[in-house]
Amino acid sequence: MAHRVTLIPGDGTGPELTEATRRVLEATGVVLEWDLRQAGVDVMEEAGTPLPEETLASVKANGVALKGPITTPIGTGFRSVNVALRHELELYACLRPCKTYPGVRSRYEDVDVVIVRENTEDLYAGIEYEADSEAAAHVIDTLNALQVKQIAAGSGISVKPISAAGSERIIRFAFEYARSHGRREVAGVTKANIMKFTDGLFLSVFRQVSADYPDIAAREVLVDALTMQLVQRPEEFDVLVLPNLYGDIISDLTAGLVGGLGVAPGANIGTDAAVFEATHGSAPKYTGQNKVNPTAMILSGKLMLEHLGERDAAARLEAAVAAVIAAGESVTYDLKPTRDDPSAVGTSEYADAIIERLERT
Ligand code: NAD
Repeated sequence: MAHRVTLIPGDGTGPELTEATRRVLEATGVVLEWDLRQAGVDVMEEAGTPLPEETLASVKANGVALKGPITTPIGTGFRSVNVALRHELELYACLRPCKTYPGVRSRYEDVDVVIVRENTEDLYAGIEYEADSEAAAHVIDTLNALQVKQIAAGSGISVKPISAAGSERIIRFAFEYARSHGRREVAGVTKANIMKFTDGLFLSVFRQVSADYPDIAAREVLVDALTMQLVQRPEEFDVLVLPNLYGDIISDLTAGLVGGLGVAPGANIGTDAAVFEATHGSAPKYTGQNKVNPTAMILSGKLMLEHLGERDAAARLEAAVAAVIAAGESVTYDLKPTRDDPSAVGTSEYADAIIERLERT
């Protein structure tokens, strides 16, 4: 059966990364019917918006999209397309597996952690009051009337809402992911000892939900302790579920543990739609040079195959990527021992090497 997928090449290096990824995915033998749609700075002039309505409608209709990175235009009044997509499609779960592949430069071996980050609540909900504004003064007066502790006049305020329902859906997502991907443990990450009514709520929901998954171990970790433990013994962690802000920070940390942005895949998933995309941005300085590393986007494509139920193809694709990286010959500059290694190949030739491996399996 063909899978219909919205393909958004994005801008900057996005189109060349997307083309390499599309070719590799097709070489797995899975039949993908691409619904090509545009978004990003390149369509802004023509469409009057970086996120045309028809692109959004296509993702809604197909339920699955593969997306190249998109530049956030500065000073144009347009908000980030990436944020808009997550918001419009209610993509509440950000999934970021971080795994070491032999051959990728990293200080660590045997890291295989999956970050499940809540995407809609917390300090990133966008509820903020600027210092000295009328609204901030009103919020401060109202809060000061409710409590003994006083907020200083002239403070800026960012609100941290965390709900039981929002916590439950992300925590359930993490346990379901663990169960369906043969994982042994989910760790709930908070600072519940300090923020009792937000992180504390997340933790109490974590305890309730974990009781429904007796086959998966549940561990409770404080986020500050986690940062130290991850740099000391990252191989001891499996799946981590975190509220939005901690998830953002920890997922960059774990990407760093496994070799950086070039190899860090991701997905933003909701109830009705899922968008698969690399963690990195559009790397605009390399646009059109056939230079940057498509691994993160190709591995995002692997996550998409899993999401589509194509587990066998996903496993073959990952094995082919790992084999090409381990061989170390036909890889992009950032996967070579030094960045000016003349034997580095381009984005497209690296994809060719993966396709060649796939064709042998
Ligand atoms: P970036 O991720 O584009 O680049 C950071 C550094 O990593 C640069 O040195 C870049 O050259 C390098 N890099 C990134 N991807 C690489 C790859 N595949 N192979 C090799 N090297 C790679 O981050 P930035 O420069 O902060 O952002 C550029 C634009 O991308 C901004 O407009 C930003 O808003 C946007 N952005 C988009 C997304 C997305 O589409 N989801 C995510 C992050 C940033």
